Amino acid sequence: MSDKDQYAVFGSPIKHSKSPRIHAFFAQQTGQILDYKSVLVPADAFEVQLKSFLDGGGRGLNCTVPLKEVAWAYADKKTERAQLSKAVNTLILQDDGSLLGDNTDGIGLVTDLQKNNKIQLKDKRILILGAGGASRGIIGPIQDELPQSIVIANRTVEKAQVLVDEFSCRGLVSASGYAELSGLSFDLIINATSASLSGDLPPLGSGLLNNQGCCYDLAYANEPTAFVSWSQQQGALKSLDGLGMLIEQAAEAFYVWRGVRPNTSELIELLEAER
Ligand code: NDP
Repeated sequence: MSDKDQYAVFGSPIKHSKSPRIHAFFAQQTGQILDYKSVLVPADAFEVQLKSFLDGGGRGLNCTVPLKEVAWAYADKKTERAQLSKAVNTLILQDDGSLLGDNTDGIGLVTDLQKNNKIQLKDKRILILGAGGASRGIIGPIQDELPQSIVIANRTVEKAQVLVDEFSCRGLVSASGYAELSGLSFDLIINATSASLSGDLPPLGSGLLNNQGCCYDLAYANEPTAFVSWSQQQGALKSLDGLGMLIEQAAEAFYVWRGVRPNTSELIELLEAER
């Protein structure tokens, strides 16, 4: 067993993951002594791999596709934000040996929007595209910032409606198909679909974005995603992708594990410059 505290990200695929680099940067910046590695783990190997990781001195784990729901089901206890999102991207080994499940994706997005990019959510009309796991993770933390309203648009409207049923007790939220968005307009449009990963754009008409409105794609790439390009064509004040969210969700995980909050601006600058 290594004498350093062990951390890791599990997922499949995992080779592309920037998390080991991000956490190594945070550890060096804050003087924390730890190891962080990526491990290829398909869903059916999660339990075995987790046990071996903990036996080898594992203190905390990040989980990515396709393990966030598996990790949610496995966690002994969950934070409120993990409970709401029904997905866990961060596991923390507690002193009593139990595993606490957390979800830092939503706070990562909100921090990147509000703190890094000065896009405030209070009283804003927000459109979220997509009703998958990522949408589920961001709705609660967005509602905590008291937007005027949230519309969730999805190809399969029933999935958006399921989210509305779960989150409507926390704020004004409604479900829509894409065609039904016509005539509406928003201050902020967040793309939480996986369309960008295959170079696609959800079927969006023009006129959905208010003057001075902004767009944010949860996906990120070295080139502008299809949604970021669409946003630029719509004249958005800011057209952002999810690199900042990735770094901020990692910073929050680092904080819950180590009790030290890294400064993210230097790393954001560095990774932006590398694009
Ligand atoms: P899911 O597979 O759970 O959900 C995918 C969603 O995308 C569904 O709502 C699906 O609609 C919709 N969709 C897929 N293709 C299209 C298309 N061509 N047009 C319109 N809608 C489409 O994915 P996740 O929620 O887990 O992830 C979504 C995105 O968020 C990914 O790009 C992921 O990389 C990103 N992400 C980024 C993070 C970051 O830190 N930056 C963190 C987490 C996620 P339907 O239900 O109708 O099939």
